[in-house]
Amino acid sequence: MTAKIIDGKAFAAQVRAQVAEHVTRLKSEHGITPGLAVVLVGEDPASQVYVRSKGKMTVEAGMKSVEHRLDADTSEADLLAVIEQLNNDPEIHGILVQLPLPGHLNEDLVINSISPEKDVDGFHISNVGLLGTGQKSMVPCTPLGCLMMLRDHHGSLSGMDAVVIGRSNIVGKPMAQLLLGDSCTVTIAHSRTKDLADVVRRADIVVAAVGRPEMVPGDWIKPGATVIDVGINRLDAPERGEGKTRLVGDVDYDSCAAVAGAITPVPGGVGPMTIACLLANTVTACCRSNGLAEPEGLTA
Ligand code: NAP
Repeated sequence: MTAKIIDGKAFAAQVRAQVAEHVTRLKSEHGITPGLAVVLVGEDPASQVYVRSKGKMTVEAGMKSVEHRLDADTSEADLLAVIEQLNNDPEIHGILVQLPLPGHLNEDLVINSISPEKDVDGFHISNVGLLGTGQKSMVPCTPLGCLMMLRDHHGSLSGMDAVVIGRSNIVGKPMAQLLLGDSCTVTIAHSRTKDLADVVRRADIVVAAVGRPEMVPGDWIKPGATVIDVGINRLDAPERGEGKTRLVGDVDYDSCAAVAGAITPVPGGVGPMTIACLLANTVTACCRSNGLAEPEGLTA
């Protein structure tokens, strides 16, 4: 079997277009422009790239984009003051603090200081609790993007066996909650899981969020299963020239694609969906805060 490639890049473009359409309507019918604020502390090069691209796509979707770039040695009190100001700003509907934060800052404290209604990353403890109890919440962007692709591919996920490899708070755990919410039978695997290959072989849906390049080989995949590869790993690629690198996921693409029914590529799979879902969450947050009907299909 040769797997269908789930084109996250094209899907993300569709989601962004849907977001832009809603933004146009919010502006013309209600005079409201959704606003997203991104706070970056320090100069981590990868974070700078993410923040730049988030800002660009926010503007392209017709929304207001605000960036706060703070020095790496910014005190916790100063960072909390910036968040407080954004919490109180009626033109800002979404706040994202780019992680990781420099070591002297307490990430949990900082994230939990964001107003839950504006927590478009879905990491605030209130949103985690709401998601865990099946209530309306802000849903973390990466797992939301995975869920959208799975729903689009399968329609109903009800009764399917899903294995999520990875139990992080930002991907693995919320992904498992979302799959459970769609009535999958969910197993969460991690570094202490025994016989991981056997566990994965039972799955109709495999979501790999491990951070280990090409860890999942094709002979772990049940024929016809759907494979969602969240991993983003950069490897040296001397064959492409001196100092060149290439991106790979957490699954061995070629061997998995030969067995799976559908698979997301890296790059061009989950990655583009993450930013699209951030924009979707900002529109959802904006509609909720204004008591307006939220767009359909843009949240869980
Ligand atoms: P993380 O916090 O490091 O969590 C990794 C998880 O994988 C942990 O739960 C760990 O288990 C588990 N694990 C590690 N080695 C394992 C092994 N040999 N067998 C089974 N499980 C193992 O990583 P993360 O933040 O969830 O990110 C995972 C990957 O997704 C990374 O490559 C990251 O770059 C990527 N990512 C992509 C996006 C995107 O937009 N596409 C967004 C976020 C993350 P323990 O808990 O037992 O240690």
